[in-house]
Amino acid sequence: MTDFSSQQRQLLALVADLESRRQRLAQHGRDGVPADFAEQASARENDEVVDSLARQVDEELSQARAALARLDAGTYGRCARCGDDIAPARLVAVPFATMCAGCA
Ligand SMILES: [Zn+2]
Repeated sequence: MTDFSSQQRQLLALVADLESRRQRLAQHGRDGVPADFAEQASARENDEVVDSLARQVDEELSQARAALARLDAGTYGRCARCGDDIAPARLVAVPFATMCAGCA
């Protein structure tokens, strides 16, 4: 059986990093609305950036968590489409890859 302990460490570090980023982004949304109209407009623009960042972080978080779940289930490193092993180099580059290079 292939040893995925380095991928597991990488994924756990990634999840911790993403969770702290997510917390900072959530914090941003609670800063309140500025009274000044121009500031409100720029705050709204800023909110959109924060929202899209938050969505991106959420997406990466769910991918990283799903990969950790696959590690637990023993299905990690197997292509979701063709069932072949995903190349180790690909798992190093993309530890939450669900498909082999040929299927992705
Ligand atoms: Zn495949």
